[in-house]
This record gives sequence, structure tokens and C-alpha cells, in this order.
Amino acid sequence: MARGKKSSTAGNPSVTPLAVPGSARATAPLRELLRFHPGTPLNSLDPAGTPGFPGRGKNDAAEITAVVGPVLSEWQERLFAEGRSEADAPRLLVVLQGLDTSGKGGVVRHVFGLVDPQGLHLASFKQPTPIEQSHHYLWRIRKALPGPGMIGVFDRSHYEDVLVVRVNQLVPAGIWQQRYDEINRFEAKLKDQGTTIIKCFLHIDKKEQGERLLARVHDPTKYWKYSVNDVAVRHQWQAYAEAYQEALDRCSTDHAPWFVIPSNRKWYRNWAVANLLLEHLEAMDPQWPPAHFDIDQEIERIRTA
Ligand code: AMP
Ligand code: MG
Repeated sequence: MARGKKSSTAGNPSVTPLAVPGSARATAPLRELLRFHPGTPLNSLDPAGTPGFPGRGKNDAAEITAVVGPVLSEWQERLFAEGRSEADAPRLLVVLQGLDTSGKGGVVRHVFGLVDPQGLHLASFKQPTPIEQSHHYLWRIRKALPGPGMIGVFDRSHYEDVLVVRVNQLVPAGIWQQRYDEINRFEAKLKDQGTTIIKCFLHIDKKEQGERLLARVHDPTKYWKYSVNDVAVRHQWQAYAEAYQEALDRCSTDHAPWFVIPSNRKWYRNWAVANLLLEHLEAMDPQWPPAHFDIDQEIERIRTA
């Protein structure tokens, strides 16, 4: 069918998407390289590693990541356009988890800053409010899920309910222990309903966290990021390591795998999340919706109006 004619097909595959040149692509798909396989000890994964990075290091990173921006942006717009034309259009959900200073905010700013904000649905999950407390822990999560064509970004998530809640014993063990299976069922249902889920654990080591916390207390432009509670959480490093290990072991599934993003190097972290997002969008392959009108007739109507 000629491009632009009124069509009843699902999309416009005739319009070739922008592509990232081979020299800026990961040396192997990050969705394989960074995928967490249950049973892998987290402490065997190097937080300072740079798996798949095609350049030499930090000096190349800004340039290589910049190449990805316009491509990511086009895929996101395609997805958004699908969402405007089909009620059951696909959705994408990115879950960001990691200890204080691991860079959840940095990823939001540097990676999701590359795409059109109107296609994003950002949600950050803090200590539950009294109203949230009065509901099931998934209540606030369900309310924040991305709609058709949207990219949802969770800065913390339902995983806090098996992390901080477990470490600080905020509910009895019998309760949080049931949540792993419940989360798997919840995510499987989301996937069935058309949501692709990318779960990123931003992996830093204790030394790196110490330096970042010190940077926050030394720098007047970073005081606002510091919480006096961060030190108490740092004391619980080992308990969090165990809680993350179990969350990833039990909830890295085929329908919603976990990815471990080495995050000691901020430039690698940003590049990796941007490329993981790109790989998923490419696989989703959203198409520009076809014209829902007769093009020749509309040209005529516009000319004579
Ligand atoms: P931040 O992300 O630094 O703004 O901090 C948010 C705080 O909210 C962290 O200390 C989290 O552990 C806490 N938080 C998030 N979700 C929950 C939850 N479900 N229960 C208790 N604390 C939570
Ligand atoms: Mg904090």
C-alpha cells in the first residue's frame, strides 16, 4: 500500500526508524550482558565494571550517549503516538532500585531527560503516607502505572516492601515473605496486559557510597539530597545486601527480569540504562499510526478552506 493512503493496518512500518551507528552500540546486547540470573551472588558482580561499553572510557561516554538520545526520543514518540490511537497500546515500565546515592535521580535526569516529558509518567515512592498505609502495599503502585503508550519510571517501587520493610521489620516476617510470589504474580499480569517491565538495580559498593555521602555534606548544592537517616541505613549495608539478593533471586523472571547496572561509574550507569531502554523499545517496535483519514481528500479540503 502506498505510504500515507488511508489504511487499516496496525501501523506504518514503511517509515524507517533512526538507528544508532554500530560504533556507539553495546558490544553485545545489554539485555543479556546485564541480566541477573537467580543464584548469582551480587557481590560477584563488579559495581565498577563497564560491560558492553563500546568506547575506551569516561572521555568517550558523553559523545556515545549523546548519539543515543535522538534515537531513544524517536522510539518514545512512536510509542506515545500508538498510545494516542489505540486504547490497548503497549506500555513500558522502568523500575529503579538501589541504595542511597546509587543514582536513581541521576538516571531520571540524564536518561529520561533525553525523551519528551509528556510521554513519561514518573513516580517516586517514599515512606507511605497514612492513607497509603491504610491500603495494600500494591495500591499506590497500581495508581502510578503507565497508561497506553507511556513510559513509566519508578524511583523506588513495590520492592521497598521486601527491602526496607524487611530490614527494619516493619511488618512480621510471615507477611513480607509472601510478597515475592505476590509481586511475581502482579508483574506477570502487567506483562499479560501489555506492559514491558525493565527492572534496574543500580549496583554501587560501600566505599563509593561513602564518598558520595561525604560529597553531599561537603557541597552546599547537595545538602538537600542528604538525609541524616542515610547513615543509619549505611550501617545496615549487609542486611540490605541480603534483602536485595533475595529480591533479585526470587523476582528475576522471564516476564520481568532484573538487570544489574554497575553504577560506581556514573557515565557507564547512564549509558547502560539508556541503551537497555533502547533495546527494549526496538524489540517493542512501535509504529507511526496510519492516517485515519483520506489524505488526498484532506489536502483538497485544506486548500479550499
Ligand atoms: P529517597 O528515595 O532518598 O527520597 O528516600 C525515600 C525513603 O522512603 C527511603 O528511605 C525508603 O526506604 C523509604 N520508603 C520507600 N518505600 C517505603 C515503604 N514501602 N515502606 C517504608 N519506607 C519506604
Ligand atoms: Mg535519600
